[in-house]
Order: sequence, then structure tokens, then C-alpha cells
Amino acid sequence: MTDKEQFEALSYKRRNAYEVMSDSEISEMNALCNEYRCFLDAGKTERECVRESVKLAEEYGFKNLDGTESLKPGDRVYKINRGKNILLAVIGSDDITSGINLVGAHIDSPRLDLKQNPLYESCDMALLKTHYYGGIKKYQWTAIPLAMHGVVYTESGETVELNIGENEDDPVFCVTDLLPHLAQDQMSKKMSEGIEGENLNILIAGMPVKAKDVSEKVKFAVLKYINEKYGMKERDFQTAEIEIVPAFKAKNVGFDGSFIGAYGQDDRVCGFTTLKSILDTKSPKKTAMAILVDKEEIGSMGNTGMQSAFFSMAVAEVIEKLTGSCTVTQYNKTIANSACMSSDVNAGVDPNYESVSEKKNASFCNCGVVLTKYTGARGKSGSSDASAEFVSSLARIMDANGVVWQTGELGKVDQGGGGTIAQYVANLNMEVIDCGVSVLSMHSPFEITAKTDVYMAYRAYMAFYKDR
Ligand code: MN
Ligand code: MN
Repeated sequence: MTDKEQFEALSYKRRNAYEVMSDSEISEMNALCNEYRCFLDAGKTERECVRESVKLAEEYGFKNLDGTESLKPGDRVYKINRGKNILLAVIGSDDITSGINLVGAHIDSPRLDLKQNPLYESCDMALLKTHYYGGIKKYQWTAIPLAMHGVVYTESGETVELNIGENEDDPVFCVTDLLPHLAQDQMSKKMSEGIEGENLNILIAGMPVKAKDVSEKVKFAVLKYINEKYGMKERDFQTAEIEIVPAFKAKNVGFDGSFIGAYGQDDRVCGFTTLKSILDTKSPKKTAMAILVDKEEIGSMGNTGMQSAFFSMAVAEVIEKLTGSCTVTQYNKTIANSACMSSDVNAGVDPNYESVSEKKNASFCNCGVVLTKYTGARGKSGSSDASAEFVSSLARIMDANGVVWQTGELGKVDQGGGGTIAQYVANLNMEVIDCGVSVLSMHSPFEITAKTDVYMAYRAYMAFYKDR
């Protein structure tokens, strides 16, 4: 062995997935990514993602756990939580107390939510006030086409599903921004203050009605319109959930189409690959579960977030329907022997902003699925730091299954940071590690991922279900 060969054998070097992928893997990747783009277009809110997941799950032979009396190995079930959170399971041949293999992703994404009293008229225009959801750079949400998705319950209890701005003939909406000619004051502000939260108001109409003794004639026109079209009155906004999201579709990016650009890839890139991998899992030894949760972007709060007892209750229900009982011992043993891949995105190194990453420990696009041992900020605060035993066991599974993987920290030490659902899964007393896809322009209206990484995430979750 030459010195060069010995050095290469002993040292670690990050691999670009294209160096090792076969032609058949590349065509499998392209097929997967075509499906992924359709999933992104069909699911721009957590509710829509759950609906789309159920549709796919039923095509793959999954049944609703609620209507299932008993379970046996090989059974495929799903359980929906309030339309915004879903758990899927494929029952394994091993005793369930030997543990579950869980992959968990979130399907909520940063966006603009309508306030409870959003509608007003100003300067002969009608607008809707918003309160942003999740961490956004506000300036990115102005001057782009926006769509309106949501659910309204009218006074009489009728349900109205809104989805406006996605079809070619639909109108879109917009947050206007100041022209550069008059932006002298705005442009000298700090970027975080250039666009204020209270200025993220959505332009929705400008045509007044002819009306006597009514001063707000454009608002009146809107009220008449939504009443005729949806049976809504203004007060119905107070009880509705309406989300404003980018109106554009997922696209291939680059001459070679090797990237995907789309809204909501944090974390639907992991949501989709998680879903796909449980759908493709046939007869696992350990019971395979996938959970797609809501509210991660605001701290995993609420009854549809990972901090909710929904997961624990669903596991107990599965144990009971499988064995006829669910004792504390059965439940505790099951959870203690379980492991989770918290599938969430990582910040890929951006050639425009290399300085925020420490490149020996950052993730790179096209270098495979990212294993993130810890997240957090300021000395790993708020992180679930995965154990060496668990990380090394996963590394061996990844290697044995030809998965291209890398490690990745979320930015340089003390540059910032973030959290995922991992810490809440860890609190249940199971092994957990973050494992997901590198993203550029994270939390922007048009996030970028590399197709090889999407594919390797899918391969990683498949390997985990099969071999852990
Ligand atoms: Mn995320
Ligand atoms: Mn996020």
C-alpha cells in the first residue's frame, strides 16, 4: 500500500452521491422526485399533507386503526389526529415489546396565518391582516404570488375548504412592498426591521360596489363575494384557520434539473420520504411506525405537535389491539426498546454564505442524508444529543445498505441554531437522532434540495425499518 492509499484508507472524506450511484439508482431517484414534487403541490398545509398521506396509504393497503378490532404481524394501519397529524404503522413479526422503529417528520411549514379579524379597507383596497407562523425573514414574503388555503366553519356549521391560487385560472394574492425610489428610510433600517410584521397585509380586492350610505365599498364587495361564494360572513374569519402560502409549484432547478425548488420542503422533504418508506415497507421484523406531526415550527406545541400525548396513546392502542392488553410493563418495555429517526432538514452549506458554516462539520448538498447527532444553540442547549452506541449502530446500517450519508451540524458554534422534534421523542425514553436532508434557503418561500439527498433520505429510512 502506498502512503497515499493508506492515507485514503484511514481518513474520512465526504462523498458526493453521484460518484457512487448507479444508473438504476439515478432513475429510481428521478421517479421518486417526480412523485415528491406532486406531493409538495398537493400538500401545502398540514391538513392537506395528512389528506394526501391517507390517500396514498389507502392505495398501499393501509386501514384506519380506529375501525380495526385487532392487529397481527404484516397489518398496515394509520391513525389521524384532528386532521393535522398522522401515524402510520406496519406491524412487525417480532414481539412488539422488542421495540418500534419510528421515523418522524413535521408537515407544518413557515407561512402567514390570517388573524381572527383580518379584513379591512384602506386606500380603496381590501386587505387581510396576518400573523406569521414560524421563523421567517419577512422581506422574502413580499412581492410574490400567494395562495390561500384553509378551512372555515360558517355560523350555521357548514365547512368550507379554501384553496385559491393554485389553479392556472385562479387569482393569487400578494403582500406589496415599497418601490426602491421611495425606500430610502426603509433601506437604511436593519434587515430584520425593513418589513414589519404588521405590514404583512394581503391585498385581496380593489373593486368597490355601488352602494348608498356605505363608506367601505371595497370591503362591502368582498363581504358580498365571500357570502355568495362560500356562505361566509366576516365573523367566520374569527373561527377559521386560513394559511397564506406561496402560490408557485415545485420545480426542477438547474440546467441539469438536479435540484428541487419549492415551498415547504422543511420538512415535507422528510415527510414525503418518511411516508414513502413506510408505504414501501412490507414485512418488517420490528414494528415500523411513521409519524407526521404539526406545530414543529412553533415548538412542537399543541395537541397535534410532537409534545402531544397522541403518539403514546396510539402506541398503547396498537399494543392493545395486537396483544389483547397494554399493561404498563408492556408499554414501558416497548418504548424503552424503540428508536427514532427524527427526520428533519439540515442547513446545507450555501456557496453564497459559506462563512456561517464550519465546513468540516456542515452538511453539503448531494453528499447524502445528514445524521445530526445534536442540534440546539449556545453549547447544545435544547438538544437531544444522540449516544455513540446508537449513532454507530445506525452508521453500520447505513453502510450495509449502500446509503450515502454525512454528518451535519446546524451552523458554526454560536452562529445560531435550532431544534427539532428529537428532544420530545427522547423524553419518552427512546433512542433518537436527527436524520434528514440538506436544504438551501431554508424557511424561504422557495427552498432548495438536491435530488440525491431526497433519494438517500428515503433509502436511509427504508434501511432503518429493515435492519434496526
Ligand atoms: Mn424542520
Ligand atoms: Mn423549520
